[in-house]
Amino acid sequence: MALEEYKAKRDFRKTSEPQGHFGRKHRQPIFVVQEHHASRLHYDFRLEADGLLKSWAVPKKPTLAPSQKRLAVQVDDHPLGYATFEGTIPEGLYGAGTVRIWDHGTYENLLANKPETRTVPEGIADGRLEIALHGNKLKGRFALIRMKGRGRKDKDNWLLIKMKDEFARPDSAVSKKSGNPTKAATGKHSNSSPAPPSKDSRPPRGGITITHPGKIIFPEAGITKGEVVAFYRRIAPRLLPHLRDRPVTLERLPDGIGGADKPHFWQKDTPSYYPEWIPRIDLPSVQRKPVHYPLVNAVATLLYLVNLGRLTFHVWR
Ligand code: MN
Repeated sequence: MALEEYKAKRDFRKTSEPQGHFGRKHRQPIFVVQEHHASRLHYDFRLEADGLLKSWAVPKKPTLAPSQKRLAVQVDDHPLGYATFEGTIPEGLYGAGTVRIWDHGTYENLLANKPETRTVPEGIADGRLEIALHGNKLKGRFALIRMKGRGRKDKDNWLLIKMKDEFARPDSAVSKKSGNPTKAATGKHSNSSPAPPSKDSRPPRGGITITHPGKIIFPEAGITKGEVVAFYRRIAPRLLPHLRDRPVTLERLPDGIGGADKPHFWQKDTPSYYPEWIPRIDLPSVQRKPVHYPLVNAVATLLYLVNLGRLTFHVWR
């Protein structure tokens, strides 16, 4: 991409924004995030590549919380000189409003070190970037992932996601969300492995503990495990009547539903470490001893299984 679109939208006699020149490459590529008080406040996220700034407009402030993925709409490439631009674009012009540098620094293209090496422009063409930012506010590994849109209109929609590393911060916003009665929504979620074996005869009083609610399990759509759990909770009144008292084979999809190339496992027998309050029914099997199929008769059972990545329910008969 060149700078034609950038130039076509601006009148350089009226705006103090830099003109559209290709810049000289920095030894270490740079990134900048500009807080842009236009008709609607947004954050322009820009990465140097090929003497230009590859750019995305991020409507919400970027964050270090892995669970808080940010929509990032790819916009025109900007000249490299734009990285130092601060000022006010006059009323009536394109992007009118004040621009301030919110964060800046250098970055590394992490795809360069992978077996299938990619430059940043190649990563953009593929719809996936992994970068390490060395800024004042934004630090550590981030992914930019293009969402699979339905139409041409959506083709510029990406997600900016903090990856888990030592710079990642827990999500503070999740606890403010209402309407989701899982423990995840009250901020009590654990970041440790799934709950230890329980011999309780009743589901826990406070609801099922959702582990890793921020884990992205549908990367193309940017859907987190917490959202999947919320979805199952919402559809439970419609789903449960079809599952009730019917032995169920579970499909375990640790990486979400992603077609034939994604790992999946079938689970018929209920492991003995599952809590006692999950009802089982023993049915004979041809090859071996009876199989203890779970019965999904209650929301708690449904959410317990979804939390363990059991995402599709195949009734036995
Ligand atoms: Mn902008």
